[in-house]
Amino acid sequence: MPDIRLRGLRKSYGDVAAVDGIDLEIARGEFFTMLGPSGSGKTTTLRMIAGFEQPDEGGIELGGRDVSALPPYDRPVNTVFQDYALFPHMTVQQNVEYGLMVKRVGKAERRTRAAEALSMVRLEGFGVRKPSQLSGGQRQRVALARAIVNRPRVLLLDEPLGALDLKLRQEMQIELKQIQQEVGITFVYVTHDQEEALTMSDRIAVFNRGRIDQVGPPAEVYEHPRSEFIAGFVGVSNVIERDGRRSTVRPEKIHVLDDGEAPFPGAHVEEGTVRDVSYVGPVTRYHVTLDRGSELQVLTQNLEESSSDVLASKGRRLRLQWRPEHESEIVDTGGNE
Ligand code: ADP
Ligand code: MG
Repeated sequence: MPDIRLRGLRKSYGDVAAVDGIDLEIARGEFFTMLGPSGSGKTTTLRMIAGFEQPDEGGIELGGRDVSALPPYDRPVNTVFQDYALFPHMTVQQNVEYGLMVKRVGKAERRTRAAEALSMVRLEGFGVRKPSQLSGGQRQRVALARAIVNRPRVLLLDEPLGALDLKLRQEMQIELKQIQQEVGITFVYVTHDQEEALTMSDRIAVFNRGRIDQVGPPAEVYEHPRSEFIAGFVGVSNVIERDGRRSTVRPEKIHVLDDGEAPFPGAHVEEGTVRDVSYVGPVTRYHVTLDRGSELQVLTQNLEESSSDVLASKGRRLRLQWRPEHESEIVDTGGNE
């Protein structure tokens, strides 16, 4: 039995179909990510699961129970938002205990559970501080503790790391994933950041204009995007047309042949000219115009090359090769061209 089941969910605001027919099953204990550009319907879907919005059509089951008619506070879910709004005048401990106090949980149990939750987010000993005495990452972890302490069946997270700078965000991605594995709660995580989705998720649903284009584990969505939209949104859109079929190949799967180097047996080979090249430290990114017409991005690791070697290659002729199994056919054009 899935932990969450969405059946034919639809929600419009005036003429805008924010959510346009979503069917989804999420397993117990899964780290499930809804990935998509701004305005693709992720938040609306999350708000319907939480009960803050009523669907126009469709149903929502949590743990096998239809919750469509239940108000938010009667659903076994908690939400963590980007603007996590801690109470500034309360200590961390009081912030975490607040939800339990509202539910009239006794003082001793509140203490124990808050201490447990703070330890899960690695903030033991921080209970006495005020939110203003914490870093951004620590505050976000208090927000998480405040949700975990209620022991929800499902935790909904809407771009929770959006306000943090890149380095902290990357650290928190790893931590969030670890915390999720420890607490075993089902996470439904919303983000527009493909790298974040690939890093943390057991499975990803790619949202596009109120619908889901593809659902699968990170490597499957990345290596085998089923539409051009996904190829471009979860990576760069390297589209090749051949014999009336369209397919994609990821930039790091393309190998630049040295002068006179023989391609490996069965490889697909293309020739082209370097239109542009950028040195990005560990890697170099080439934009190669193929003789047959389309353009491909190619990423190579900088094992020996200096930045001047790399930049001098602009305008050069190149031969490229890749393995046929690294090419993925686009099966769904989805009207997104
Ligand atoms: P996302 O979270 O993927 O950025 P949203 O679910 O917030 O997308 O929004 C989907 C679409 O619905 C957008 O076009 C947005 O403008 C619209 N929308 C969302 N909430 C409302 C609302 N309360 N009133 C009117 N339009 C809304
Ligand atoms: Mg949103």
